[in-house]
Amino acid sequence: MTHTPEPAPQPIQPDSAPPDSDTRRDFIVEIPPALIEALHRARSVAVLTGAGISAESGIPTFRDAQTGLWSRYRPEELATPAAFEQNPRLVWEWYAWRRELISRARPNPGHLALAEMETRLPHFTLITQNVDGLHQRAGSGKAAPLIELHGNIQRVKCYQENRVVDRWQETDDPPPRCPHCGGWLRPDVVWFGEPLPWEALAAAQAAARACEIFFSIGTSALVEPAASLPLLALRRGARLVEINLHETPLTPHATHFLPCAAGAALPALLRQTWSQGG
Ligand code: NAD
Repeated sequence: MTHTPEPAPQPIQPDSAPPDSDTRRDFIVEIPPALIEALHRARSVAVLTGAGISAESGIPTFRDAQTGLWSRYRPEELATPAAFEQNPRLVWEWYAWRRELISRARPNPGHLALAEMETRLPHFTLITQNVDGLHQRAGSGKAAPLIELHGNIQRVKCYQENRVVDRWQETDDPPPRCPHCGGWLRPDVVWFGEPLPWEALAAAQAAARACEIFFSIGTSALVEPAASLPLLALRRGARLVEINLHETPLTPHATHFLPCAAGAALPALLRQTWSQGG
């Protein structure tokens, strides 16, 4: 089933908005009235987020992260089991650098608005491809399910036994070793060529099938199998809403495309939908 996209709202003009003024932002991002109405009626909403929602927290997207010291490596050279087997120290240190960057980052207004949205709707599922844990830190996952499709960079697991490890001894010759079997430790994230945790994927697909509105936010809609979730929702008759600074392969299918930063669009959506106690 293909939806005809409705006219897009005006893109935001970041330079014209004072950085801390949410009220000013609200004037700029105009949410389509049909979407507000649909949200008032909706009993079930699913949201998929990608690296774009965390960009405003200062976390580079995967390819942007290849800066400075790390610019001579491609993601495929650092985020695969083969890369880890060939150079475990290099891979461990790259993730340690990203972990450090992420631990200094803060959730932004986009993350906070989604945490608030889950309290406003009878059924809400947040599905993220991000491994940064910023949705949890914003308060998501308390009143509704939060599904991490690609793991979490703050967790570590044994490369041999695949079990999560809470404590380990740092070493001058990383990666550190598993306290149970002595094997290498690795970040608990899904690498290129690895399958997604099946329970997480099954739950995400069920939410996509059941929802009336599906949001795709800050994702290039290219990385499978996450990229198929919005299309699954569409086939089941859901309204598809895309929030992205740029058009993606999904844009022609979107019922509403908001060409905005997630950190501006989501607070505006929240306020314009529920401000009158609706
Ligand atoms: P991607 O890098 O392929 O795409 C990011 C998308 O976000 C782009 O379409 C871009 O136009 C859009 N975007 C950038 N800033 C935005 C903003 N402020 N508001 C709205 N949209 C914005 O990311 P992806 O689709 O998530 O796929 C990359 C993979 O890399 C994912 O699997 C993810 O697990 C991983 N990754 C995660 C993180 C993280 O945890 N923060 C960071 C980098 C990469």
